[in-house]
Amino acid sequence: MPDKPRLLVIGSANMDLVVTAERVPRRGETLSGGEFKMVPGGKGANQAVACARLGAETHFVGRIGADAFGETLRQGYEREGLRIEHLVTDPDAPTGIAMIIVDADGDNSIVVAPGANKRCLPADLEPLEAVLDEVHCLVLQLEIPLDTVRAALRMGRERGVTTILDAGPPRALPPEVVALVDVISPNETEAEALLGRSIADVASAEAGARRLLQMGAAAAVMKLGAWGAVVATPDEVSHIRAQRVEAVDTTAAGDAFTAAMAVALAEGQSLREAVEIAVCAGALAVTVFGAQPSLPTREKLAEFCQDRGCRASLSP
Ligand code: ADP
Repeated sequence: MPDKPRLLVIGSANMDLVVTAERVPRRGETLSGGEFKMVPGGKGANQAVACARLGAETHFVGRIGADAFGETLRQGYEREGLRIEHLVTDPDAPTGIAMIIVDADGDNSIVVAPGANKRCLPADLEPLEAVLDEVHCLVLQLEIPLDTVRAALRMGRERGVTTILDAGPPRALPPEVVALVDVISPNETEAEALLGRSIADVASAEAGARRLLQMGAAAAVMKLGAWGAVVATPDEVSHIRAQRVEAVDTTAAGDAFTAAMAVALAEGQSLREAVEIAVCAGALAVTVFGAQPSLPTREKLAEFCQDRGCRASLSP
C-alpha cells in the first residue's frame, strides 16, 4: 500500500433494528415479517468502519448514549480498529436507532430516531485540530446537525484537507455549505432534495451534477444504484456503469461507495479512478445482508476489481 491513507469521519452512530418483510406495510396495517436482526449502523459509523476495513487509519467522531446499544457500538468500533478517542458518550441522550424494513426486492425503508446524534454540536470539534493536521480526507454526512457539518467543513478547508460530503439523508443545503465541499456525493433522492428537480435517468443526473458544481462544489459524484454513478468536475462529466451483481440488501451500498472513494482519494488516486473503485465497493455491499456486515475489506474489494477487469483498484 502507498502512504497509509488517513481519514477523519464525523457523523452518526446508530443501532439498526432490521426486519425483513414481503413489502412495506400500508398505513395502519400490520404485517407478519421474517427474521429480526440488530446490526450496528448510522451513516457516519458505517463509513468509518468501511474506511477502516479498506485499510485506512480512520478516526471516528460522533455521539452515542450511555446505554447498552452505545456500549455494544463502542466495542464494535474497537474491534474494527477505529480511532475513537474523540467519540463522545452523552449522559443525557439515548444512542440513535434506525428501524429498517427490507422488502422482498432487497430495497429498504427506514425511520431514524437520532438520539445522541442530534447533540453532536460544533463544540465536539474543538479537540480535532491536531487530527485534521494529520488526515488526507474529512468525510461527513447529514445525520448530525448542519451547524456541526458546516463548522467541520470549514476546519477541513482551512487545513487543506479534502472535504467529502455524502449528502444523505435527503435535505436542501445552503450554498455556503456546498461551497466548502471538494466532493459532494448524493444518491438520486438526495440529489433531488439538493437541486429541487427530479433525477430520472443518466442524462438528468449529469445535468444535476453540473448544477452542483455551479452551486459551488469543486466536484460532484452522483450515486445511481443499479445505473452506477456520474462524476462531474469542471473539466469532464462522465457516467460509470454499475457492476452487475445479485442484489440481496441495498443497505449501506452508498456508505461502502463513499468510503471506497474517500480511501482511494486519500491514497492519491484521481477522482475518476476513485469512483470506479467505489462502484465496485457499492456492488459488493448489495450482495450481503445488513449495514456494517456488508462493508467489504480491502482484500475483497481488490479481488473483485481484478475479477471484473477494472482499470482502477486499491492495491491488495
Ligand atoms: P444509497 O445506498 O446511498 O442509496 P445507491 O443505492 O445509489 O446509494 O448505491 C451506491 C452505489 O452502489 C451505486 O452508485 C452503485 O455503484 C452501487 N449499487 C447500488 N445498487 C446496486 C445494484 N443493484 N447493482 C450494482 N451496483 C449497485
